[in-house]
This record gives sequence, C-alpha cells and structure tokens, in this order.
Amino acid sequence: MRFTSIAIDGPSGAGKSTMARRAAAELGFLYVDTGAIYRSVSLYAYRVGVAKEDAPQIVALLPEINIGMEYQNDGVQHMILNGEDVTDAIRENEVSLYTSVVSAIPEVRTFLLELQRNLAATHNVIMDGRDIGTVVLPNATVKIYLTAAPEARANRRWLELREKGSDITEAKVLEDVLQRDYNDTHREIAPLRQAEDAVLVDTTELDLEESYQLLLKTIREGV
Ligand code: C5P
Repeated sequence: MRFTSIAIDGPSGAGKSTMARRAAAELGFLYVDTGAIYRSVSLYAYRVGVAKEDAPQIVALLPEINIGMEYQNDGVQHMILNGEDVTDAIRENEVSLYTSVVSAIPEVRTFLLELQRNLAATHNVIMDGRDIGTVVLPNATVKIYLTAAPEARANRRWLELREKGSDITEAKVLEDVLQRDYNDTHREIAPLRQAEDAVLVDTTELDLEESYQLLLKTIREGV
C-alpha cells in the first residue's frame, strides 16, 4: 500500500508548523515537524557545550543521540531526546540559531534522513521542513512551498514571543529571521529552495485563517 505524503517546505516563521499540524488533524494524517527533529539533535550538542561551528565534535556526538517522537492528545509532536521530553526546550531562541548552523552538517542530515523517510513509508504524512520536497520525499504526493516576506514573518514571530513574555525587539527578531534565511538557503547540502513541482503559497498579505484555508485548498487539489 502506498501512503500519501504532503511535503511543506519554506523559511522559518511562515506558519508551516501551526498550519501543517491543523491540516494533518483535519485530514487524519500524521504530522511530522522535521525542524523539531533537527532542533533536538542540536539541543544535545548545545547542552554539551560544543561550539556550533565545530562540526567534527558535533558529528562525534551523534551515536549518543536517541531521538523519539510521541503524539499525545494535544496533537503536538512531543520530542524525546534520550528519554527526556524536550518539546519546550528546543524552542529557545539560542537553540534556533544554533540549529540553523548544525543542520548544515552533512552527517547530521544523513543521520536524520532514514527516520524521516520511514515515517512517510508507514503513515499518511504531512511533513514540514526545508528539504522535504527536494531531498527527503522527492516523490511526495503534493509539494507546497509556503512563504511570506521576511518582515511579515518577523512581525508574527515577535508578537508570539511577546505574548510569551519576551522583551525582545522586533528589529532583533527580523535580524534573526534574515540570518536563518541566509543560513538555510546558502548551505551546500540540501539548501532551502522551492522544488520545481511545488506549488507556491505566499501568505504575506493573508491572516492566519486565510493562509490556512489557502493551504488546505492547495492540499485538497493535489491529493
Ligand atoms: O522549522 P524550524 O525553524 O523549527 O527548523 C529549525 C532549523 O532546522 C531551521 O532553521 C533549519 O536550519 C533546520 N531544518 C533543516 N531541515 C529541515 C527542517 C529544519 O535544515 N527539514
């Protein structure tokens, strides 16, 4: 039996996770947030205290890392790092930037490729990330490139962080967004780019509900 896979790629802050999770719940698919998987591996190295530029040291840590995922009733993909639930810890701002450097290491990507492909081989999935349509699932049933202007993404992220009590400035959030965009699109291996056969969904001018309806419509037209 062949499973259906929806690949959603795009830069950080485009609303991929929120919308992909909701669409997966609506369609009865498994939601796979691959950014959370990269974040979990990176968190391990971050906690050990290895500099994010020290690729050999980070690669040497990989055999010590065991990544698990659990789906609880809240629909959230809980990340389990060597037995510890790190779902919240991986969202820290420093971990985000650290991850965008660590995820450029080829051995890290290879380490996680099979895990991602296995999930799609055994479930109907909506998988979001940077290279799902281009590398992980080149034969995905539907490919979507979800994006928005950097300023719009930074503004949404800033409002989110503020709600959580952070006093970070919007300018700093924009700076981080641009830095991560740069890291993700300029790395040598599996850079962020729109697959040739992906449908472009640009949400710059849309609110969350409009963006979600456009995403869902695009998925439904493709399956
Ligand atoms: O999607 P999210 O922002 O949580 O991803 C965190 C980081 O993980 C990204 O900045 C990117 O560098 C990396 N990533 C990746 N490939 C993926 C998903 C995420 O390189 N498929």
